[in-house]
Amino acid sequence: MKKSEFNKFLAKVPKAELHIHIEAVITLDSVKKLYLKRFGKEMTEEEQKSLFTYNDLNGFIQAFLKVQDLLTSVEDFRLVFDDLGKYLKKNGITYCEAFFAPTAFLKKGFKYDEMIAVFHEKIVEIREKTGIVIKLMEDVSRTFGCENAINNYNLQKQYPCEDIIGIGLGGAESKGPAADYAPVYEMALADGKHAVIHAGEDVGPESIWDAIDLCHAERIGHGLTAMQDEKLMKTLAKKKIPVEICITSNTFTKKIVTKAKDHPVKQYFDKGMIVTINTDDPVFFKTTMLRELWLCYKDLGFTMDEIKELIKYSFTASFLSKKEKKAWCEKVDAAWVDVPAED
Ligand SMILES: [Zn+2]
Repeated sequence: MKKSEFNKFLAKVPKAELHIHIEAVITLDSVKKLYLKRFGKEMTEEEQKSLFTYNDLNGFIQAFLKVQDLLTSVEDFRLVFDDLGKYLKKNGITYCEAFFAPTAFLKKGFKYDEMIAVFHEKIVEIREKTGIVIKLMEDVSRTFGCENAINNYNLQKQYPCEDIIGIGLGGAESKGPAADYAPVYEMALADGKHAVIHAGEDVGPESIWDAIDLCHAERIGHGLTAMQDEKLMKTLAKKKIPVEICITSNTFTKKIVTKAKDHPVKQYFDKGMIVTINTDDPVFFKTTMLRELWLCYKDLGFTMDEIKELIKYSFTASFLSKKEKKAWCEKVDAAWVDVPAED
């Protein structure tokens, strides 16, 4: 099957994406607009090229920080959400749970309530225009300690917003172990919020055990090092704790795997674990949801029927209601006609 045939077919199938960071969909056009606003001059071609050129984790983090730095007011988030809406539509993603990380913005004086007012307005606008539903998970930050994370979570409580449904922890796992953040997870879960955590991205399986046992995370982000621990893989399968897989992100950071072919996602799937396919930071890793699914087909040996299962998992692993999950899975089945022939 040609990639173009695959993309054409898959673009029409409804999908969910559950692990994506909002700033990571920003287009070069938006970057240029923000740059002009921030510095009062046009971005040079050289600067445009260098911003997205890097080949390791550190280079990526620097680029991510540079993009965050370009936002000078809460209004700038409008561009970010416009780009998010376009990305989702292009990839046929009908439901999305995305991370927003307020710490960097709070530190430069943005007001939490003003930020989420813009988020809400844009989310409603996207839903009305395209039917795409976006929910947000607040990345409470694992960089500044648990007290800061609790403060971030308390803002979520202080300014309730129907679009923000829980918490997550991204970023440098080795410097901010999940175990340190158990208190904020306890608070969020007791309040009926959802809780996910990046774990086992660049730290061993013990990080995933902590995320499950100490933080009671409902989903694991990455979960790459679970492949080193047979008992853990069995536990994730048995407890039906979904793992948000980000293949290109994992091969880019080169911490555990360097090629898509070596990624354990197929092994996880075959062991009965619930896995969902995601992009993490699509612009920064030069990928898309359709490309990640293509990797599953082309490099990882998933059949088209198995890809359909992966897509259904993206809905069943989400925080939608049971009824909504069922309805979306039926829509996936209904869209699964005239499937291109496999090689
Ligand atoms: Zn992530």
